[in-house]
Amino acid sequence: MKLTFLGAAGTVTGSKYLLEHRGHKLLIDCGLFQGWKALREMNWELLPFDAHDIDAVLLTHAHLDHSGTLPLLVRQGFRGMVLATPPTIELCTLLLPDSGRTQEEDAAFANRHHTSRHEPAQPLYTEDDALLALRRLAHLPFDTPAQVVPGVKATFHRAGHILGAASMALDVEGQTLLFSGDVGRPDDLLMRAPAPVTPAHWIVVESTYGDRLHPTQDAEAALGEVISYTAARGGTVVVPAFAVGRAQTLLYMLYRLKQRGAIPDLPVFLDSPMAIDMTEIYHRHRAEHRLSAQECAGMCGVAQMVRTADESRAVSRSRFPAVIVSASGMATGGRVLHHLRQRLPDPRNTVVLVGYQAGGTRGARLLGASARCASSARTCRCARKWRRSKACRPMRTRRSWCSGSPRRHGRRSACSSRTANRRPRTRCASASAMSWAGWPACHCWAAAWSSALEP
Ligand SMILES: [Zn+2]
Repeated sequence: MKLTFLGAAGTVTGSKYLLEHRGHKLLIDCGLFQGWKALREMNWELLPFDAHDIDAVLLTHAHLDHSGTLPLLVRQGFRGMVLATPPTIELCTLLLPDSGRTQEEDAAFANRHHTSRHEPAQPLYTEDDALLALRRLAHLPFDTPAQVVPGVKATFHRAGHILGAASMALDVEGQTLLFSGDVGRPDDLLMRAPAPVTPAHWIVVESTYGDRLHPTQDAEAALGEVISYTAARGGTVVVPAFAVGRAQTLLYMLYRLKQRGAIPDLPVFLDSPMAIDMTEIYHRHRAEHRLSAQECAGMCGVAQMVRTADESRAVSRSRFPAVIVSASGMATGGRVLHHLRQRLPDPRNTVVLVGYQAGGTRGARLLGASARCASSARTCRCARKWRRSKACRPMRTRRSWCSGSPRRHGRRSACSSRTANRRPRTRCASASAMSWAGWPACHCWAAAWSSALEP
């Protein structure tokens, strides 16, 4: 038996492990590298095996960093089965074609604007490739051992991460390997707790957050606090959210906050067709999560679903306080970009980052800028001034206009910043991040609770 790590080693994306045993080859997960450009370029490297030689693929869950290379594998000649839990397959039927579409749109954009060194720029794979890959998906329910190739049995156990997410035990002629997949929390609001770990000779475990403990902060209370605070000054809260998992958790939190009157009765918009479809899938798989039928209906009913581009533009233009939940979660694309473009210049608004922000993404730049600005605010005069005045009045420092409120909002990173009117060449870290993203470099107000909501 030989195990080769082809991704998610030294980085957290691109999960892909090759298991070889008595002439058979299995792939455990087949994910995309995401984040920094150097990582994304690894998606273009030739797979270090012949796709025809792979007997089967076992998917732990549907997130693209675990499933997003399947269309490429099928295009390169893989003809075996891809085993996954039924909810994972349902999520993949939406995620993979969408990923192919996005690749095609990115290539078309690069060709129109000549932003690629390749002429013409090509998509990594197309929507059609993804649709072909879907034909290879086959159900393997939880807790049901199945022989994948002679001498190798696989069993999926609930991992509590997203709908359908599994840890996987592989029995290889009496030797057991356990692949954790992405593991959820035992006390997650939505998902059932991960199943207890089964005995194993070897464990391959995800370690994205292996260097820290879960914060004790109540994420729902923190979300309520920032929504109330923002609404009180006439602002809107924009939440870039992952369409699968995080968007549904947010909707459920918003439903609970509204139910107990912890936030004003603001309109909530879910502006992501993908997240809307995903939310309906959660509705159909009630046995896989903790919500009752009534809570599920509440989660779906708390938001106005924004499907069309025209509706999305109307939401973006509205100046009434609201909560806008929109994909993508790391602001790498999608409709959230035009909401950020519209809302970031106005310091009354708040951007809430509620998930892991991979290095190299706009979300990571925004988060980094926010944290740097907040830490400088703790030491500079303007922070003290802010506490006295409790007003969003930027104070000039040597390098930037910068103010923050570490005492009042001590549990979060927050900043309000402005490029120096009198010194146009100096700008604070936040403004630089906005400028890099092509957004107006004037104000931003950003709050980050990513650690509070991380799995
Ligand atoms: Zn995941």
